[in-house]
This record gives sequence, C-alpha cells and structure tokens, in this order.
Amino acid sequence: MKFGGTSVADIDRIRNVARHVKREVDAGHEVAVVVSAMAGKTNELVAWCREASAMHDAREYDTIVASGEQVTAGLLAIVLQSMDVNARSWLGWQIPLKTDSAHGAARITDIDGSDIVRRFGEGQVAVVAGFQGIAPDNRIATLGRGGSDTSAVALAAALNADRCDIYTDVDGVYTTDPRIAPKARRMNKIAFEEMLEMASLGAKVLQVRSVELAMVHKVRTFVRSSFDDPDAPGMDDFDNPPGTLICDEDEIMEQEVVTGIAYSKDEAQISLRRVADRPGVAAAIFGPLADAGVNVDMIVQNISESGQSTDMTFTVPAGDLAKAVDVLEKTRNETGFDAIQSEAGLTKVSVIGIGMRSHTGVAATAFKELAQIPVNIRAITTSEIKISILIDSDFTELAVRRLHSRYGLDKV
Ligand code: ASP
Ligand code: MG
Repeated sequence: MKFGGTSVADIDRIRNVARHVKREVDAGHEVAVVVSAMAGKTNELVAWCREASAMHDAREYDTIVASGEQVTAGLLAIVLQSMDVNARSWLGWQIPLKTDSAHGAARITDIDGSDIVRRFGEGQVAVVAGFQGIAPDNRIATLGRGGSDTSAVALAAALNADRCDIYTDVDGVYTTDPRIAPKARRMNKIAFEEMLEMASLGAKVLQVRSVELAMVHKVRTFVRSSFDDPDAPGMDDFDNPPGTLICDEDEIMEQEVVTGIAYSKDEAQISLRRVADRPGVAAAIFGPLADAGVNVDMIVQNISESGQSTDMTFTVPAGDLAKAVDVLEKTRNETGFDAIQSEAGLTKVSVIGIGMRSHTGVAATAFKELAQIPVNIRAITTSEIKISILIDSDFTELAVRRLHSRYGLDKV
C-alpha cells in the first residue's frame, strides 16, 4: 500500500490511512506500506536547500529532503500502534534499498526484502519511507521528485507482493482528464504500456518510472483513492475494489481499440529551414540539445526535394524554448540552416490504445474529427499504440472532448 503526500497531509489524514491499513491487516494480509512526505513538505525542504546555497552538495540535499518521508513513516507507525496494529517504520538504509550514486535522482539497484518478510512472519506491518535509499558511498540517496511511487512498485516486486495499491487523491485512471471532459470514465483496467503513454503524456497519476518498473517486473498496480471511507462497502473486496488496475494486457479481456486521450500543454515547436541534407546533420542538431538537457519530443524531417537541403521540425517544452534556440544558433556552422522559426502555445493531443495494433483507420478517424472542428494539425507522430497530434493550445479542450466522444469513450 502506498500513500502520497495529500493522503498523509496531517495527523487526521494519517489516521484515515491507518484505518485503510488496518482493514487489510484484519483481512489477513501481510502488508508493507510506503509513504510520501506530508503535502508540501518536500517543496519546503528543497527551498531551504536552495536558500542555504544555490550550489548545494547533492549528498546533503538528499540528507535534507529525505527527512520528510522519515517523519510520516514514524507518525504512521505510531498511529497504527495506537490502533493495536503491530507496526514498525523502516528508512531506506534499514531495509536496505540500494541505489546507484546519482544523488538527487538515484536509481534503485537492489532491495533486500528478507528482513521485512521475516517481520511479516512475526505479524508485523512494515511502514517504509518512500523516495529514499542508500547509495554506494553509504549515504542517503533520493530517487527524484515523485519517487515514492517508484519505491512502492520496487518494494512490491522485491517482496513478491500480490499487488501494489497506490492510494492517491484521485479514485483511479480516467479515459481522459475529467476536468476538461466531464464525460470521462474511470477505467477498470489499463495495460502497462497504455498507462506508460498516459503517464508520460500528462495524465499525472503516477511517476512514469514507477510504471516502467511495474511493466518490467509485472507488478499489478492498483490506483485508488485514500479519501474513500476505509470501511465503506466494497473497500474490503480484495479482488475487485474501486479503482483502476494497471496490469499485463493478457489480463484485459475486452480490449478497446482506443482506451484514452491524453494531452500535454505548454509545448513549443521549432523549425529549422533548409538544413543541409547530408549524414550527421541530425546528430549535429540533437546532440547539443541533449547535452543542454533539452527534452526533444516529436521530430519531423521532410524528404528533401532538391537533395541539397531539408526542413527539420520538432517540439520541446515551452519552458526550454529560449535555451533550445540559443543552442541551435551555435550549431549553424555545422548544420547550415537558413532560418529558425519557433512558436510556443501548442498542445500535443494523443490517442492511446493497444487495440490500434490490430485495427486500421484509427488515425484517419482522429484526422476527420479534427477537420470537422476545424483544427489545424501542425505535426503528427505515431507509435504502435499511440497517435500524437500537435495543435494550437486554444483548441485543447475542444479537441480532447471531441476525440473522446468520437472513439466511444464517453460515459453513457
Ligand atoms: N516527497 C517526494 C516528492 O514530493 C516523493 C514523493 O512524494 O513521491 O517528490
Ligand atoms: Mg506523488
């Protein structure tokens, strides 16, 4: 069971979390609980580091920001004990959860779950501080913002858990963002690969890395609400509780062609006009952007007409636009482009579904719907299970709603 920051924001909410835990313990399950820091805590700690020094040491940053989770783990253990649940807190190093040496954004290298499993045998519940582990230099390391989802999935894999239940402030994964499409439905199940697309495209329910990890280790991951009454009817139905199961596609019997519509706003487009058409040019453009830490997304290169030059269009986060243009100007000698054109205020809308692999016409349907609005399409990219379309942000809501209906995803 994993509980995020809003679910443990104060002692009352921690009591509510404890009731969820107690329900599972009373039902006879062995339980490990992973907690985040109280809502806003990590931001405050990060701000303190910056205030102390703009150029702070990453190891000391980790010492400081990992403390938020230490507090909630201890508090939840205390509350559980007061409810007669035998609980004990665990920090990353105590498990141990080992990481690589990338302080501040470390990756998990190994988890030894044997001590926790031994305590299960004694009837004990493990309350684990998420987001943290121990690096090869024997110091605390944190996993990057939002990392406690990843802690939870990794621990579930290490403990061979039946399931990893992520309790959060939403009650599941929706076919699209319900704030812009009120007819969005909560899905019962979604395949790992689809969730990966939904997560990375702005449906920010889970940290993307946690979904990758769940997919690799086949950890059945369940998204559900921590704000539901822990003892409401159905909450104790282990096989079919309210929420969304993220699982292997084999487990999904009736696969829809399209399962969801995701979007990400704040995209910017850059076009390099008349780039030299010869080997090494793409490397000369995208290498320096990567080195500058600019995350390039959609890339469209034209087949050149002349054999001399071509156009290259791609997207970057709007916040990185100025930096990207700056970097590109410096490549002009090598890439020989004529002009840089750029524009912010764009949105990428994506249609996602594993069923696309075996159905034709899915993309054509989206194009027809957008044509009817009408919305101009600026760029298109596709993968096996996704079509992404770049449009002006003004049309985001309309496009998402229309596509959602067109693919039959509206609540009936
Ligand atoms: N507390 C950490 C953060 O805010 C980790 C997490 O909540 O997942 O990023
Ligand atoms: Mg989170």
